[in-house]
Amino acid sequence: MKSIKQILKVFIFIVIGCTPTAVDKGEPISERIISEMSIKKQPVPEKIEETEITGKNFVRVGILENELNVLFSYSGLYSIYSGDKIIFTKKRSTGSWKVTSKDNEIFLENTETGEKITVDKELIFKPEQISSYVRIGKIQSGKGWHWEQTKSRSYKGNIEFININGRITVVNEVGIEQYLYGVVPSEMSAQSPEEALKAQAILARTNIYSKIGKKYKDKPYSLSSDVYSQVYTGLDNISDKTSKAVDDTRGMVLTYGGKPLEAFFHSVCGGYLEKNDIIWGGNTLPYLESKPCGGSEDFKFGDLSKENNFRKWIDSRPDSYCNIEKKGLNPGLDFTKKYFRWELKVNRKKLESTIKSTTGTDIGDLKDISVLGRGPSGKAKSVIITGSKTSITINKELNIRKKLGKPPLYSANFYVEKNKTGKNGLPEDFIFRGAGFGHGAGMCQIGACGMASEGRNFIEILDFYFPGSKITEIDK
Ligand SMILES: [Zn+2]
Repeated sequence: MKSIKQILKVFIFIVIGCTPTAVDKGEPISERIISEMSIKKQPVPEKIEETEITGKNFVRVGILENELNVLFSYSGLYSIYSGDKIIFTKKRSTGSWKVTSKDNEIFLENTETGEKITVDKELIFKPEQISSYVRIGKIQSGKGWHWEQTKSRSYKGNIEFININGRITVVNEVGIEQYLYGVVPSEMSAQSPEEALKAQAILARTNIYSKIGKKYKDKPYSLSSDVYSQVYTGLDNISDKTSKAVDDTRGMVLTYGGKPLEAFFHSVCGGYLEKNDIIWGGNTLPYLESKPCGGSEDFKFGDLSKENNFRKWIDSRPDSYCNIEKKGLNPGLDFTKKYFRWELKVNRKKLESTIKSTTGTDIGDLKDISVLGRGPSGKAKSVIITGSKTSITINKELNIRKKLGKPPLYSANFYVEKNKTGKNGLPEDFIFRGAGFGHGAGMCQIGACGMASEGRNFIEILDFYFPGSKITEIDK
């Protein structure tokens, strides 16, 4: 308890961060299927109250980086600063503003009235009303993934435009609970059962404390707004149900050995969870296990790292928490059923060109793709692609998925079949038969929904996916 408070104090004042659009960001910690969720476009909610933004309980989130110009508008009263210098106090505005930068300066121009402001290095907008928010144009997220999109988004809290090497970085400094209101519905469908949303809220809060200070040390923010920290979309997806999950778990984080743990989660495991070292390498975390996602007693497929067992498992629809066929969940979650077991048929020529673009190697005619090694969940650890000119071996879960698909394959739990061999002796199509969506470590989100539908609460859900962990309360 004490150590968490200490960590909090240290972290909160550290200013570090990440980039939503940069290439070298490592691997996403979460994968979600939110883009397919049927969230209705909602007006910006006025009743969501900002938690303290001037106290210590805030985070700095990178919204945009390396931009030549940024368009935005704002609603309500704002005071505007550049460093300690006050530019305006309690200013209201109409129309949109354009921010550009050159050398060390930042230029702000109202695109309707022509009003102009020029300042050095940074421009900070501080809200003077609870209802004030800034709406920023064209925020790109999920580049290269199934959920890639570009949208305008609204944010409460401070908005900073910072000139870094002549380009603009946008940072949102926001109260932790307000930040979580914007994270939970971005990472999990609001149609999910309450107990599953509470578990997600605790993981999202845990991620703040386990991530801050580790990445983005040379950036003016501490978390990205994308999957490389956790997805934060400001006000636009907020719903009463997800905000209630944040409120009901206020201050709770998941710890192991007294420290916030690595709160991994993924969309659908496909029926078998995987350990972190099989997916990313490194040391095995003691609170992650390779085990069936429910129904351990009845698991009859044996060791899934053995090809025959694995194929039988893929070709079946085993009873598990994330097999929601008979769980009676909200029909809004039905779209996730297609990830439990999936099939992807790809024409050979198309796959050859995908492999050429993802690996940079011309393998010639694609003859075969086979999995050389599997982890305990059957997850491919190594794959060999055999071509007429050359063969390539690819390793590691996400790398395998990215090299074989654009967007990446849903998961690395797959086997490959060849279809219709032509006169040239080459297959016409390759068929990937797979299970699950995401990396498979930590909490299976749809599995959590399945558990909740069976009457389990958030404590039982987190205990199942993170055995040996504890829910610890930090400063509320
Ligand atoms: Zn699962």
